[in-house]
Amino acid sequence: MSHDRDFETLAVRAGQERSQFNEHSEALYLTSSFVFDNAAQAAARFSGAEDGYVYARFSNPTVAMMQNRLAALEGAEACVAMASGMVAILATVMALLKAGDHIVSSQGIFGATQQLFGNILARFGVETTYVPATQVDAYRAAVRPNTRLIFAESPSNPLTEVVDIAALAGIAKEKGILLVVDNCFCSPALQRPLDLGADIVIHSATKYLDGQGRVLGGAVCGRKAEMEEIFRFLRTAGPSISPFNAWVILKGLETLKLRMDAQSANALTLAMRLEKHPQIARVYYPGLASHPQHALAMRQQASGGAIVSFEVKGERAEAWRVVDGCRVLSVTANLGDVKTTITHPASTTHGRITAEAREASGIHEGLLRVAVGLESVDDIYADICRGLG
Ligand SMILES: *Cc1c(COP(=O)(O)O)cnc(C)c1O
Repeated sequence: MSHDRDFETLAVRAGQERSQFNEHSEALYLTSSFVFDNAAQAAARFSGAEDGYVYARFSNPTVAMMQNRLAALEGAEACVAMASGMVAILATVMALLKAGDHIVSSQGIFGATQQLFGNILARFGVETTYVPATQVDAYRAAVRPNTRLIFAESPSNPLTEVVDIAALAGIAKEKGILLVVDNCFCSPALQRPLDLGADIVIHSATKYLDGQGRVLGGAVCGRKAEMEEIFRFLRTAGPSISPFNAWVILKGLETLKLRMDAQSANALTLAMRLEKHPQIARVYYPGLASHPQHALAMRQQASGGAIVSFEVKGERAEAWRVVDGCRVLSVTANLGDVKTTITHPASTTHGRITAEAREASGIHEGLLRVAVGLESVDDIYADICRGLG
């Protein structure tokens, strides 16, 4: 399938390979290894002289279909799928960096990514400097001679700060380094970082790509040259995705745009209603005109996305009352599901950092994050209102 088709068409058609049975729906190949016609073919497959499957740590036809479909949706030359989003980030760094290298990262990235950079990569001599997500000049100023990549996530979690991807791509080009964007919160249905000049896109496929909270998965998309390096790490180190998980994600991609559009529309309606509620001090949502980077968000995203954060008037007790009043929303830190979830970041995802650091980064005790799903927005709003003073 060529990549010049529209997104909707690629989402249901790209990457499909049919077997001898000519099945209509993509097949799930649950096999860890593949047989060869003869000794010469085995040798050719192992040496790479002949293309084809060898062993599922390297590749599998179902995984290949998922990779090719996601690559088409991101507008990438190639994609490498992995067992989780975290290992997709680890593999990217392990494949492309070495001891003594340096990363410049936007502040407010996913908590486990911060731990990966700070507690694990630091032990292997890779250092990370964080800069305020929205201050473009701060990224340039933080680049050193040993900086190899800029890492960014947009919108940020949970405050929905929007990073100027095109501006960061300009800095990366100027400095001869890579721009890596974790596109988990928007997915390619709403934002295509490679079109904006980024070099590599990373996904936790666990979130919107699956979209129904079933499986763990991850992926890295970009140019062939870098993806080959990352694939070499994968085939040696083995953080490979299960073919079953790849199949679930492959089928999830078929409804990605429909879900993202519907969940974003729900999120915008919810954000506008919450903004008018007398017990709510502030709403963070890039689709609102009141959002500080609203214009930028509307330039680089198709919509404001499906994550809405807001501060209730009061402290932890008032925020927890909203959480505990929910009968429909799921109280969980996960996101990217068709089921709406609600989280109190200060006592969960950001509970391990000091209260001072939390306040400094704007994560107040009254803050709540809602990852909006597909229920009726009236039911979602009513559920939130039950615990609001
Ligand atoms: C969940 C998440 C990850 C990690 O993905 P896993 O699949 O849970 O390993 C990375 N980045 C962001 C933005 C996420 O939300």
